[in-house]
Amino acid sequence: MRQDWIPLNCGENGVKNKWKVNCLDRHVQTCPERVALIWERDEPGTEVKITYRQLLELTCRLGNLLKRQGVRRGDCVTIYMPPCPLAVASMLACARIGAAHNVVFAGFSSEALADRIRDAQSSTVITVNQGVRGGKVVDLKRTVDQAVQNCPSVQQVLVAMRTENTVAMTDRDVPLEEEMMKEDVVCEPVAMDSEDVLFLLYTSGSTGKPKGLVHTQAGYLLYTSLTHRYVFNYHDGDVFGCVADIGWITGHSYIVYGPLCNGGTTVLFESTPVYPNPGRYWEMVERLGINQFYGAPTAIRLLLKYGDEWVQNYNRSSLKTLGSVGEPINTEAWEWYHRVVGDGRCPVVDTWWQTETGGICIAPRPSDPEAEIVPGMAMRPFYGIKPALLDTEGEVLSSNDSTGALCISQAWPGMARTIHNHHQRFTETYFHPYPGFFFTGDGAHRSKEGYYQIVGRLDDVINVSGHRLGTAELEDVVNQCPGVAESAAIGYSHDIKGEGVYVFVVLKKAVMVEEDVLAQQLREMVSRSIAKYACPDFIQVVRCLPKTRSGKIMRRVLRKVVERNTDELGDLSTLDDPDSVHEVISGHRRLC
Ligand code: ATP
Ligand code: MG
Repeated sequence: MRQDWIPLNCGENGVKNKWKVNCLDRHVQTCPERVALIWERDEPGTEVKITYRQLLELTCRLGNLLKRQGVRRGDCVTIYMPPCPLAVASMLACARIGAAHNVVFAGFSSEALADRIRDAQSSTVITVNQGVRGGKVVDLKRTVDQAVQNCPSVQQVLVAMRTENTVAMTDRDVPLEEEMMKEDVVCEPVAMDSEDVLFLLYTSGSTGKPKGLVHTQAGYLLYTSLTHRYVFNYHDGDVFGCVADIGWITGHSYIVYGPLCNGGTTVLFESTPVYPNPGRYWEMVERLGINQFYGAPTAIRLLLKYGDEWVQNYNRSSLKTLGSVGEPINTEAWEWYHRVVGDGRCPVVDTWWQTETGGICIAPRPSDPEAEIVPGMAMRPFYGIKPALLDTEGEVLSSNDSTGALCISQAWPGMARTIHNHHQRFTETYFHPYPGFFFTGDGAHRSKEGYYQIVGRLDDVINVSGHRLGTAELEDVVNQCPGVAESAAIGYSHDIKGEGVYVFVVLKKAVMVEEDVLAQQLREMVSRSIAKYACPDFIQVVRCLPKTRSGKIMRRVLRKVVERNTDELGDLSTLDDPDSVHEVISGHRRLC
């Protein structure tokens, strides 16, 4: 292997240092052997470590290969890969040659993938022969083959080998490792304008058709690196464990760009929280010495069902900060995360943000390390973020102890610049509802002390006889019922009240409970904690809730089912488990 390329590529004070080499080259100059990536493969104990020097080499080879395949500055490459070093190198290789990337979560169907390839007009797709997740092999290349049949723009598919199984290759397919090894380990980074596109990424689709949001070079990187450092209190030498998938914005910002820009060591988690057993996360924390752990409430609620022992079996003394993202974290899950996982000594940072915002906008920290953190609250705006709450008339609610539409009143570096090919949809969605403000689509409450709490999506707000109820508030109470693992609250149209409350509940494992006792208990709890008018009219027990593949509850689908509008379920391309919807439609056990 050639060793002489590092100094050649980026001399200490050379002009090239001005270029966008923030995630790799400058760390290779100072600490080439530092571990950049820990690839936590599906099978526990088989992790692979990649240093900054190795990652730069992979990235350069891939960049050269992409150029040889005709990818040019300004093109958009679709990446359909599970978390793995070559996926990260592919993203960085695109950035290096000035191409944008469009990472599609490798659990999406061929149609969902085809939609995104077509929208991005990619001529190149990068994938793996097969994925491995939860002990199962998934034929990703086959999904790509099906997708590209309906994507005339695609000229080549680069195929990496995750498993040893060969897959059928066509003239269009390029064996990635074989071809990249023919390339040089030097690839000059292209200088880009700060406002040039870095990537596009589709939202989760919780509320409708996913939007292909566009993020740009300088502001995004600055914002992700700052939030990564300050929100999580990340220090040099820490091991950062974000267990999201790289196919979501959380993966882009807090697995790839934020940590790598900070010269950090970042974990790429290929498996699931319950493989081979529900102790997986914590066994990994012990084995890899993870210092900051960043996960989603849906996984915390799932693990909570299995009891404390799965956590306590492992040494978690390396943990310093615990993070949560994706949905409101209910009080019971927050307390468990804090008390059991963090032994009551690690701050839990509930981080509110969106694909649109690029990075974390509201989170308990930064502030002084002793500052108060209230369970289940995102709390404080990050530097430069100016939140505003607006009422239904569009008036700014300036006093504390108020609830309204969460908006942001001035631009910040990490914000998305447009929706790919749909700038009008961008302005209509985010800037027209409240002129002069960026509208997030979420509702929030500002407490007497001035702290922010997300109350759910505004589309999901339930209006009972003129009282507006946030789904998070209702579900938080329902989830505190001892037998309940998780729940979803929706409004349905009611002749007298305008809307009534309908709650779906998933019971904890092995819970035997009389259904009318449970209904009675839930009603009493809601009436005591919120108000009598908030009591559910209907409660339905289900095995699981319809969720997006990123783990968010799709309440809009439940609403359609309850309204008996099952022919109009809307865009289901991001739905995780179609059976969850069939089950809700057919075999429902309505308690009251
Ligand atoms: P779409 O915009 O296509 O409907 P989505 O909103 O689910 O999909 P994302 O950008 O992945 O797509 O998710 C951002 C949303 O997730 C936020 O707007 C908010 O509703 C929710 N969210 C994220 N983090 C938190 C949090 N800490 N607390 C409460 N809600 C959160
Ligand atoms: Mg959204």
